[in-house]
Amino acid sequence: MNRTRCPHCKGKLEQGQRIHAECIAPWADAQAEKAKRAAAKKARAAAKVERASIIARKEAIKTIPELIKEAQHAFNAYIRARDAGKPCICCGQPLGAGEVGGAFDCGHYRSTGSASHLRFDERNAHAQRKVCNRWGAGRAVDYRIGLVARIGLEAVEALESDNTPHKWTREGLIEVRDTYRAKLKELNKANR
Ligand SMILES: [Zn+2]
Ligand SMILES: [Zn+2]
Repeated sequence: MNRTRCPHCKGKLEQGQRIHAECIAPWADAQAEKAKRAAAKKARAAAKVERASIIARKEAIKTIPELIKEAQHAFNAYIRARDAGKPCICCGQPLGAGEVGGAFDCGHYRSTGSASHLRFDERNAHAQRKVCNRWGAGRAVDYRIGLVARIGLEAVEALESDNTPHKWTREGLIEVRDTYRAKLKELNKANR
């Protein structure tokens, strides 16, 4: 095939010419640069696939207790963010700074130990100062008063009478974890 245009500068070529002599070097450089970019892109795609497969393999070997921990971490972080501007559920005092390890916790009304089926129930979990949650044994009586004020007596009684056993599955826990990670992200985006 006879070219009429130079592949580098797109200028006109003489009969039988394939590229301008002065265009050979820059054209070769451009080709090399293009090949380099394509190779880098391919490597990035391969790395991405590899990372996804590592994550999938790690996820597959997680135990139920590990998944409960991850889901609880995500849920609690969401509750702390949801309640950040509110007072402590039990004593009504300001919460203080809410970062991980900061001044307040996500405190459960019915504890995760005794009512595991309610560990991810948003009605059952509210921001609570650490001193109340950890060293005040949850301050159950005051928590109940605060809870009635916040969600209503009917909802509190529904929580209190709910003793439906629930067995958390891998899929269920992963769903809870991912749902609350997403909800926290949404909340942070909305608050920005
Ligand atoms: Zn040229
Ligand atoms: Zn309190």
